[in-house]
Amino acid sequence: MKCPRDNSAIATTGIGEPVRYVGRFAPSPTGPLHFGSLVAAVASYLQARVNDGLWLLRIEDIDPPREQPGASKEIIDALERYGFEWDGDVIFQSRNSEAHEAALASLIDRNLAYRCQCSRRDLAEAARGALGVIYPGTCRNGCDSDDAAIRLLTNDLEIAFDDLLQGRITQHLESESGDFIIRRRDGLIAYHLAVVVDDKIQGVTEIVRGIDLMDSTPRQIWLQQLLGYPTPTYAHIPVITHADGDKLSKLTGAPGLSMHDVEKTLIEALNALHQQPPADLAQSTPEEIWSWAVKNWQLGKISGHKAIVKTP
Ligand code: GLU
Repeated sequence: MKCPRDNSAIATTGIGEPVRYVGRFAPSPTGPLHFGSLVAAVASYLQARVNDGLWLLRIEDIDPPREQPGASKEIIDALERYGFEWDGDVIFQSRNSEAHEAALASLIDRNLAYRCQCSRRDLAEAARGALGVIYPGTCRNGCDSDDAAIRLLTNDLEIAFDDLLQGRITQHLESESGDFIIRRRDGLIAYHLAVVVDDKIQGVTEIVRGIDLMDSTPRQIWLQQLLGYPTPTYAHIPVITHADGDKLSKLTGAPGLSMHDVEKTLIEALNALHQQPPADLAQSTPEEIWSWAVKNWQLGKISGHKAIVKTP
């Protein structure tokens, strides 16, 4: 439910001013929320509430080919039904496209990004690493095609951050991912650039999200550094898996969240996050469950966990 709090505190970044905690949940409308996404939402929400912070809801709708009609509304309705209270209006990422384009232009103007016409087929022989194809730099020295993606230059200095849950994470971008795409060949701004620009605009100070995005974080930190943005704190929560170890996702047949068993599902989410809610909380209302959860939330209980099996 939309909560009309005082939003004037967003991004109080003046020197000497305390910066208020700002967290966010940023689902892509590629389908309804499933249990795994609920767990991520619960973790980021509770972390914002115990830090007396703001919790923003941003729908990342800048990839129309992957969008599922009606999914944005379904996601918002489900979050409301589960009793989440976000601060301010829901933000639609597509409305920030001018800011995305301005950031892109500034990178191009400073010769930090270049056009690349390599197709998937051109890169079929390129080396692969944990992050996929390692771009070999083919178009670094120029390409004249207008039908081109835009890549960001990388170097091989170590990018490191201390994840609140997963400890120190390091990557050498040039050798592990290579220069990466910030605007796709179809003209759409790539996820890494959009997410970094939006988190900056919204003054996000801490990002709590699924561990499946942790590999992306060094690329996002590199963008923050080049654009002169602060780097938020990160906490990557374990992925929720089926008993066979497969991640819960649309692809592995995870159903959309039930709109009926809200209390039961919330308790399951708290259990998945190792919060150990008392057995009798299952008989409570969602408001009572949230009130217990805010009082008792300890992010550290999932420290170091990379995967948690959803118990049926
Ligand atoms: N929109 C992304 C997703 O749904 C999440 C982005 C983020 O949390 O940084 O996977």
